[in-house]
Amino acid sequence: MTSTARSRSAHADRDASLGQRTKITSWHHERLAAVYVRQSTAQQVLLHPESTRLQYGLVSRAEAYGWARERILVIDDDVGKSGATAVGRTGFERLVTEVSLSPVGLILGLEMARLARSNLDWHRLLDVCALFGTLIADLDGLDGLYDPALYNDRLLLGLKGTMSEAELHLLKQRLYQGCLSKARRGALTFALPSGYVWDADGAIQFDPDEQVQAVLRLLFAQFEELGTLGGLLRFLARHDIRLGVRVREGPGKGQLVWRRPNRATLQNLLNHPLYAGAYVYGRRQMDRRRYRPEHPQSGRVVMAPSEWHALLPDRCPAYLSWEQYERNQARLAANQARASSVGAVRQGAALLAGLVICVRCGTQLGVHYQRSHGRPSPFTYDCVARRNHYGEALCQHVPGPALDAFVAQHVLTALAPAALELSLAAAEQVEQDRASLTQLWEQRRERATYETERAARQYQVVEPENRLGARTLERAWEKTLQAQQELEEEYHRFLQPQPHVLTAEERAAIRQLAADIPALWRASTTTDADRKELIRHVVERVEVQAQGTSEQVRVRITWAGGGQTEGVLVRPIARYRERTDYAPMCARVQELTGAGWVLFRSPPRVPTLQLGLGNTRRRGSSRAALGPDEGWAREVAGKLDLSPSSLLDWIERGVVRARKENGGWRRWIVWADAAELERLRAYRRRDIAAEHRRRWTAVYTGNDRQKGSTP
Ligand SMILES: [Zn+2]
Repeated sequence: MTSTARSRSAHADRDASLGQRTKITSWHHERLAAVYVRQSTAQQVLLHPESTRLQYGLVSRAEAYGWARERILVIDDDVGKSGATAVGRTGFERLVTEVSLSPVGLILGLEMARLARSNLDWHRLLDVCALFGTLIADLDGLDGLYDPALYNDRLLLGLKGTMSEAELHLLKQRLYQGCLSKARRGALTFALPSGYVWDADGAIQFDPDEQVQAVLRLLFAQFEELGTLGGLLRFLARHDIRLGVRVREGPGKGQLVWRRPNRATLQNLLNHPLYAGAYVYGRRQMDRRRYRPEHPQSGRVVMAPSEWHALLPDRCPAYLSWEQYERNQARLAANQARASSVGAVRQGAALLAGLVICVRCGTQLGVHYQRSHGRPSPFTYDCVARRNHYGEALCQHVPGPALDAFVAQHVLTALAPAALELSLAAAEQVEQDRASLTQLWEQRRERATYETERAARQYQVVEPENRLGARTLERAWEKTLQAQQELEEEYHRFLQPQPHVLTAEERAAIRQLAADIPALWRASTTTDADRKELIRHVVERVEVQAQGTSEQVRVRITWAGGGQTEGVLVRPIARYRERTDYAPMCARVQELTGAGWVLFRSPPRVPTLQLGLGNTRRRGSSRAALGPDEGWAREVAGKLDLSPSSLLDWIERGVVRARKENGGWRRWIVWADAAELERLRAYRRRDIAAEHRRRWTAVYTGNDRQKGSTP
């Protein structure tokens, strides 16, 4: 008999309550006893040492079951980890592994079913234990000893697991519901963003630091003016404005630190309803699918306002009105690159990009820039929705510069009466901006002065004998003095180009500029971006409807206030036939011809060197490529006493039989024997006036090029 068995019988006498120890056989004693110790959170480990002590006490219980101390394995890797899932709990994984590798005869734990709060993990453990014959001792006050391979025991263990999971669920649910109902009352506390603090009564108040408040007010005012997050960020960076943030946890909790704003922070500030005075909870909620256990804060997604747990307006002091908050939201949404609305000004010369709407399709017209050398880049507004989605033809297109000029003209006319008001508002705006920046500077200087004085005081109270301390404090004092000096210099640099109030000349300049808005509009210093910004302030949308392929485009401008202006834009077109007044024009032509008028014949055009026929003089006139009765186009033109461009026109209209040179310079080759030359001479002498008349008045077939007879 082994020593293990002997100690086992000794313990058996002492502990009569181990009624089920008959399940423990020598087979089990030859293997290890594993003691699994777990606490959910680090906080529990600190606050409930009794539980931990009790769990470690399981070792002596294992000894009572007959295991020698050195044959007891304590698995305590999971102290401070939640049992809600096995992920990240190396101890539990290790327990399963140890059992699978088969050196474990008994697992001991306190309320074992709670070691795996998820039934999935629990049943996996039971399965493995049943397979390898491992016993489970659950010391939940009943001192149960179970063999998962036995049906009754397994049923009981499974039930315990189910109840444990249900317990956790109920617990969570109760806590969660408690949180929610507290939040709905507006009583739940959470970390506040810059500019707010919790007061002693649990209410949200402005941060007592004036500079923190001033920065936020400036920030919201600037966004109102600039309209984009990027613009705001650049403004803050340019003026080196920092956000005052209270430290949330750890040492120095509640202290004020100044942080450089970044895009995400600004976005959060502008999106947070708290700044409009509303208590809000549940803007971001957990999405289990996105949760990654290694990142405890992961898996939270931004919810739509209708999904928020609580939104209680007018619960705390506000930095901006609710209307302003909503306006900011709309602006941020519109600024998104894929927004369906107008959005902020973007690159490009098209002043109305994003504003033009097709009356037929109700969609925005896209801007299509064409490549051109030297000339200002022409562009068109194209309605491509039908083409892109259904493969139909282009719905309509309007030449960009023409539409821009048309709308700009209306905008300038609309703005003219407001000139004086504009100038006053502009002056006021400039002064207000300067005032808030100056205020911020004053506060920064005040803070620097305070810090210097404090350093000085600290230096003065130190005992002169304490030289080491005095030296450190002296250095600190010097450092604050230097920082103050630098700040002062920077302040003067800031003041230099812009004094507090506008000078008389500046005022006059603003007034004069505002009075002559068209000049301001055309000025070289006014950029396309400025013009676009201006148009967006007054114009909400521009609906266009091209009248077929004619030169007329019906335009309806909807102003920001809701009023509308309608007009007809005349766009450049390619052909006379597409003009709306083409029919009356034809009638007039017929009338005049009837009255004996003859159409004016243009004088023969001076032939230029290169008109597409190919230059035989420069490129040689080898006849190797020519067939019988063929000649280079330029030679034939000479024989017919015709300008090269006219011959090219004849070729295009199919009046002469011509082909392109194979390879080489790809010049035109014209076939013309003696009879053909005679026919062409006759054709040249034909009544061009009559032909023009016919072309003007004939029924339009959709093709201008009349088909000449090919001989
Ligand atoms: Zn359309």
